[in-house]
Amino acid sequence: MALRVQTLARELALKALYQHDLLGGRSPEELRAFCTQNGGPEVAEPAIELVEGCIGHGEKLDEVIRRTAENWELKRMATSDRNILRLGVFELLFRQQTPPKVAINEAIELAKKYSTANSPPFINGVLDRIYNVHVVGGAEEEAGPLPEADDSPGAAGKGRAAGVTARPDPQARADLHVHSTASDGSHEPSELPAMAAKAGVAALALTDHDSVEGVAAAGEAAAAVGVELVPGVELTGYAPRADGTGEMEVHIAGLFVDATSPVLLGRLRDLRAARVERIRQMSRKLGELGMAMDSEDVLRRADGGSVGRVHFAQQMVAQGYCRDLSEAFQRYIGADCPAYVAKEKMTPAQAIALVQAAGGCSALCHPALLPDFESYLEELVEQGLDALEVHCPVHTPQDERRLLEMARRFALAVTGGSDFHGAAKPEIRIGQETVSFVELDRLKQRARQRI
Ligand code: AMP
Ligand code: ZN
Ligand code: FE
Ligand code: FE
Repeated sequence: MALRVQTLARELALKALYQHDLLGGRSPEELRAFCTQNGGPEVAEPAIELVEGCIGHGEKLDEVIRRTAENWELKRMATSDRNILRLGVFELLFRQQTPPKVAINEAIELAKKYSTANSPPFINGVLDRIYNVHVVGGAEEEAGPLPEADDSPGAAGKGRAAGVTARPDPQARADLHVHSTASDGSHEPSELPAMAAKAGVAALALTDHDSVEGVAAAGEAAAAVGVELVPGVELTGYAPRADGTGEMEVHIAGLFVDATSPVLLGRLRDLRAARVERIRQMSRKLGELGMAMDSEDVLRRADGGSVGRVHFAQQMVAQGYCRDLSEAFQRYIGADCPAYVAKEKMTPAQAIALVQAAGGCSALCHPALLPDFESYLEELVEQGLDALEVHCPVHTPQDERRLLEMARRFALAVTGGSDFHGAAKPEIRIGQETVSFVELDRLKQRARQRI
């Protein structure tokens, strides 16, 4: 299609969308009639396609805009800007035949022609971010420059940035942080995929602490309900705090790990054995405080899985020493508490290296919980970190915004998940935090680079 025709079609589509927005929703027939009356058939056809696409995907487009232009409430944005963005995002995410560079440039042109002086840089900024986060899936540096504008006949698909042509479904969601009974979650690995499907989640990463023992069963159950299972693990690294006040726990997730890797399996077996010994030490410490705990009772709760402080806390509650898990952590087994014992010491660099050795993509979990994490991140990146867990229940919107910026700055992929545990964290639902399949695809690519 000639460049000019498509440009005119965008202008006409914008006018129709503007009316639809301002007049509180026009029917499809009215919008089609508007386009036909205001443009020749050559222009009206593609304009109608754009209008229908924007309205059909309206909720998704607004959600993406809302998440990106966080300082701007959609309702308070100028009507022209709001609709220019909808059109641009629709073309970026859903219209395969529009090269991304064209989608962005054309939106800027519309802003110049139909909006205020501040509008073009605003539209440019928002669409660039959406392109980087949702289309490329993260880092500008790796995406390379946007392809040159080429909207000539037969140009569709040509000159596109690598990885953009095979677009994963941007509507599908993935919860990439979930625990099972293989560690301290309360649901069997085989139960989780159906729960995820029910929550509208199309992919799920099983990330048990120091264990991939649940991956096979979860994988089978996932296949049966049409959910993608990402084999994963959550490791604990220990690093000195910048202020010299001791150590901090640095949780590193491995995604897309080979759950049959002998190196990984061997190391995890050792880590779990050390966890058993740790529970015995914790029981002894608690005994010294006058609370009789039999470590066998705690181990029985883990039922052969990766035993941890959650099981210990549950046993304390069962014996009436605490009202709930959080009291157990606060008074007895949290870091700096009298019955606290660290796990086997692994550095974050060793955790990252182990994930890499198993062909996986490494991600820093719930980074905003780390003290001084902004200055610490660079070190992890040098050690080979692949991704940042931007979306998780403990982060505020401000945390997420800051983390997205850091992901971009350090060329890291973006991940997210609920950290679902079932009973141990009853307020968390599976699928509560997710990333899109665009981000999932990028994480997969980072893992492939490791093989
Ligand atoms: P562990 O790996 O054995 O040291 O256990 C740490 C895990 O305990 C964390 O990953 C959380 O899942 C859980 N946890 C930490 N603090 C609390 C808390 N206050 N209440 C419930 N669970 C907690
Ligand atoms: Zn846990
Ligand atoms: Fe964690
Ligand atoms: Fe976790």
